[in-house]
Amino acid sequence: MARYTGSVCRLCRREGTKLFLKGDRCLSGKCALDKRPTVPGQHGSGRKNVKEYGLQLREKQKAKRYYGVLENQFKGYFEKADKAEGVTGENLLSLLERRFDNVIYRIGLADSRKEARQLVTHGHFRINGKKVNIPSLIVRAGDVITLREASRSSEKFKALIEGLETRITPKWIELDKAQVVAKIAALPQRDDVDFPFEEHLIVELYSK
Ligand code: SF4
Repeated sequence: MARYTGSVCRLCRREGTKLFLKGDRCLSGKCALDKRPTVPGQHGSGRKNVKEYGLQLREKQKAKRYYGVLENQFKGYFEKADKAEGVTGENLLSLLERRFDNVIYRIGLADSRKEARQLVTHGHFRINGKKVNIPSLIVRAGDVITLREASRSSEKFKALIEGLETRITPKWIELDKAQVVAKIAALPQRDDVDFPFEEHLIVELYSK
């Protein structure tokens, strides 16, 4: 599966906003955007006035990068969102939130979406008792997510499970922190997305 392998901090600098792609580092004094808030590259010292199309494009890039999704897959989510009932932009964000890797990150069983993707691929999690190693799988209301028994004793997961105590779980996920069992209590709504996307710009871009 194709994926972006360059510097993720460069993506934040390109978008001019923190996309939180590096876990705890993003909240520390080591954040590359805090240190150098310029556009990367030779001519990147300033940010130009961006016209309508540019704004729409940047918003799409931001969402793709935030959720770690490549172009074709993102377009696929848009088409699905457009066909579904309701507001297309909100449907799109809801679908992205429901990706299995994002859910693992939201639960707190990974420090970043990138790490979540890796842990899912390595088969550490179950959905409704079945091993699922597809990061892009879209979870449904009622799904129950568990951590593989054998994974619990690893140092990595011991630390992550300890960290759950202080982590805030989104309201659409019910988490039993002691048992490390998460249930998708409801589908995520617009106010469950904790990034200030202007999703109408993405809809406008694809509607051209
Ligand atoms: Fe973005 Fe995090 Fe890197 Fe800061 S540390 S630039 S928020 S990925």
